[in-house]
Amino acid sequence: IDTATCPGTVAGDVSHVAPVLTVVGSDTLVPLVDGRRVTYANLDVAASAPALRTVADRVAEVLPLYASVHRGAGYLSQVSTALYEASRRTIGDFVGARPDDVTVVTRNTTDSTNLLAGCVPAAADGRPGRVLVLDAEHHANLLPWQRTTRATVVEAQPTTTATLALLADALRTAADADDPFALLTVTGASNVTGESLPLDAVVALAHDHGARVLVDGAQLVPHRRFSLAGSGVDYVAFSGHKTYAPYGAGALVGRRDWLDAGTPYLAGGGAVRNVALDATTWQTAPARHEAGSPNVLGAVALASACDALAAVDPAALHAHEDALRRRLVDGLSAVPGVRVVQVWEDAVDPVGVVTFSVDDHDPGLVAAYLAAEHGIGVRDGRFCAHPLLRRLGYSAGAVRASVGVGTSGEEVERLLTALEQFVTDGP
Ligand code: PLP
Repeated sequence: IDTATCPGTVAGDVSHVAPVLTVVGSDTLVPLVDGRRVTYANLDVAASAPALRTVADRVAEVLPLYASVHRGAGYLSQVSTALYEASRRTIGDFVGARPDDVTVVTRNTTDSTNLLAGCVPAAADGRPGRVLVLDAEHHANLLPWQRTTRATVVEAQPTTTATLALLADALRTAADADDPFALLTVTGASNVTGESLPLDAVVALAHDHGARVLVDGAQLVPHRRFSLAGSGVDYVAFSGHKTYAPYGAGALVGRRDWLDAGTPYLAGGGAVRNVALDATTWQTAPARHEAGSPNVLGAVALASACDALAAVDPAALHAHEDALRRRLVDGLSAVPGVRVVQVWEDAVDPVGVVTFSVDDHDPGLVAAYLAAEHGIGVRDGRFCAHPLLRRLGYSAGAVRASVGVGTSGEEVERLLTALEQFVTDGP
């Protein structure tokens, strides 16, 4: 999409950019509130993305087939079991799982990181395994390691190069001291800025020092083609509700050995081979970590979203979201008093997540104004990344707009116009 040369637009204007896929809500559910058109969540995709129309249709189709999974010989139980297991394969394929990888259906990214935290092998001396993590992470990729493993938190530096050097240093020092890190965990795309470290460099330096890599894919997987096999990443975690499916299902996909040996995530039916009052034997993964009746509809919905995204030309998806992101960054930067947040000055190819502050105005007020006066939903606050926001000087929070396949250029323009009005006329 060449926004610069499209006729009939002002410089950079993206009003002509149409969504790539149709999401529910923007067309049917809440088009108007008090006579104003509502952007629904199309500018708050990083929080929860509206479901794709095809996903909604698939859920309606499968709902009548609902029956007990893995637990019944009845026809519908068999259909549900087959749907659930087929969904598992689709979800794994979507993130390029290797043949030996395991796909655990979880509730969301938070569930996935907590699950993996219970599977990081102990150090040689029996202490919990070591995990290396940046302070720029979402709490979901910080707190589980601090609680369950021996976590070392490193401050992200102003460039990706300096940050990688610091991580390399930590990995080397630990390996030299005979207490190596088991895992390096990084975000695939920051939920604050959309930025990331170069994954190939992360994988190379972790593997050089005997550590595995987890990618928090919550903001990456819905927006870029990601492959475990292609990247060498060991584990990826992501959420259905950010991948254009409803709440309640997510995934952890990756190497089998840790998942087979790790602490069963929940204790209960389905995760066990045999229960005796003195010696219970547990299943291997994925069943080991999926105790209780599984979320078959959630898995089917997530798999349906994966299918729909996989069918989109990655270059078209990238061009769409990047045109909207660039317009957001340029447009916001041009509004007096607006500052766009950045972690790394040399980050390459961020996804469409743009966080900003408006001088002298509380972020909550800005977001409330956009909602009340213009029907625009955005996120404000500290984005479950308190250490990062504090260190960057945004302790009072900021405002975040984010785009995806269902976002139109017109919605982006509406946000920019509304913000200009806010700055010019006041709330
Ligand atoms: N990681 C990142 C980068 C996120 O943006 C989020 C959600 O905002 C999470 C993890 C947690 O996702 P969930 O709330 O679906 O568990």
